[in-house]
Amino acid sequence: MGIYTDRRKVKKTPDGYDLMIHESGHLEYDFDWHLGPYWSKFLAELRDNARFMGIKCSQCGTVYCPPRAGCGRCFAEMNEWVEVGPEGELRGFTVVRFPYINPNNGELMPVPYTAIWVTLDGAHTRTMHYCNEHDEKKLEVGMRMRAVFADEPRPTSIHAVKYFEVINPVRKAKPAARAKKAKPAKKAVKKPSKKTKATKK
Ligand SMILES: [Zn+2]
Repeated sequence: MGIYTDRRKVKKTPDGYDLMIHESGHLEYDFDWHLGPYWSKFLAELRDNARFMGIKCSQCGTVYCPPRAGCGRCFAEMNEWVEVGPEGELRGFTVVRFPYINPNNGELMPVPYTAIWVTLDGAHTRTMHYCNEHDEKKLEVGMRMRAVFADEPRPTSIHAVKYFEVINPVRKAKPAARAKKAKPAKKAVKKPSKKTKATKK
């Protein structure tokens, strides 16, 4: 229904047939699912108190955020709630530039956006969310992140947090490390001695 613009460079098969598109027509249906006691509490705390609640395993001490009923390590049922975050460490990210249909609302996803994995302080597992930085050159794993909550009234969803932002966007450690790595490459000419040692072995 005209959601995508056809930007294909090739519109013919190798032997000259038109490459065809199957039009599915318009689909619309409502759906609900029960979140259960753990996610209900988790989302209510995000919405009403702007805080992340994780759950701790009484046997191995692993703190899960988002929370879940059973520990994946020792299969114990978990009931000890602990507050985690709202800051944490960036553990992974992807800048998405390809538009697609958002399954939550059926609308075209605005791009670019940055999906991140963040391990909140006090938790051992990763939480997935968004980051407001869309330049991958300004992101790196290990950066400190902070949750930015939506204005009240916050929605009953993970979007009670608008996004995560980088706490200290200045990158110093990594470029310095790269510069150090770059210099020994020039000195490599002086190191035939090592190579000869290696070849002797
Ligand atoms: Zn456990």
